[in-house]
Amino acid sequence: MPRPIEALVHTAALAHNLARARAAAPDARVWAVVKANAYGHGIERAFEGLRAADGFALLDFAEAERLRALDWRGPILLLEGCFEPRDLELCSRLQLWHVVHCEQQIDWLAAHKTQQPHRVFLKMNSGMNRLGFTPAAFRSAWVRLNALPQVDEISLMTHFSDADGPRGVDHQLSAFAAATHDLPGERSVSNSAATLRHGLNNDWVRAGIMAYGSAPDFPAHDIQHWGLQPAMTLRSRLIATQQLQPGDTVGYGSSYTAREPQRIGIVACGYADGYPRHAGTDTPVLVDGVRTGTVGRVSMDMLAVDLTPVPQAGVGSEVTLWGRGPGGALLAIDDVAHAAGTIGYELMCAVAPRVPMRSS
Ligand code: PLP
Repeated sequence: MPRPIEALVHTAALAHNLARARAAAPDARVWAVVKANAYGHGIERAFEGLRAADGFALLDFAEAERLRALDWRGPILLLEGCFEPRDLELCSRLQLWHVVHCEQQIDWLAAHKTQQPHRVFLKMNSGMNRLGFTPAAFRSAWVRLNALPQVDEISLMTHFSDADGPRGVDHQLSAFAAATHDLPGERSVSNSAATLRHGLNNDWVRAGIMAYGSAPDFPAHDIQHWGLQPAMTLRSRLIATQQLQPGDTVGYGSSYTAREPQRIGIVACGYADGYPRHAGTDTPVLVDGVRTGTVGRVSMDMLAVDLTPVPQAGVGSEVTLWGRGPGGALLAIDDVAHAAGTIGYELMCAVAPRVPMRSS
């Protein structure tokens, strides 16, 4: 029998979450952001649920090729654009739209010999200070691009640094609006948090994390608040139980000590499966659909859970690390991430290749 751990990708939940993005931005078209192998869900599996998107946004040419192999003929946007001049050939061959965020990328386009003009998204650095032209440099970049026969359409975009946090989007939005108000072209500014929390409804929204059923501004709001459904379940089973006596410790470093008699279960899931090692005692987990918590340190292949709230549990009991448990129980990935000092994005991207993953 294979080791009892698997990840399920819920296609209907992806479709539901995409519909939520549409409802939140009814006047916009929706990019489903599927970079990083669809946030760990697998491009092919994610495509099953997200095929109603207007386009797919990602970084990697190999991933764009996989989408084209699925017969996706619609728009694909490369969020970081080209990494070297010959990437422009691939953009032509695969019909990719691409971000232009720096002068070199304009130089490459100017030197590129092509019959097929390119559709580009000119990116402004309105405050994130990662990629893009400053508001002051944006117009001259646009003028340069607009003069190139290699370019047939220029859209305008920016990315928010704090759409999920206290600074919000207004300062970046004003910088973007001031520098672009008289430029033609479609706009794309919103990620999930800007779409849900700020209701920004521009030409193209870029829905990433919300599509996968994680709240972009957790803990301020959870997935129930935003009407999202978990798109991934990571589940395993108990492979052993232990009866602790007061003073007994659990796992490496003996970081947990029982204060009273306590039954614990050992789960076939560890940090080599992608479960966060920083999850200390009391990270939520479901055993047979009942919420309980981890105890002690996560090891490479196993972790321990408190069985006090589930006295009937034993070897073989189902353990939901996140997602959907038996009997309709739910454990949001955000709850687990928060307890482990990280974010849902990181957990879903980190599920290890050794964990079998399938659509469900
Ligand atoms: N747009 C860009 C440029 C991004 O880098 C990302 C992801 O980080 C997104 C959109 C999607 O963001 P989110 O997953 O928060 O919706």
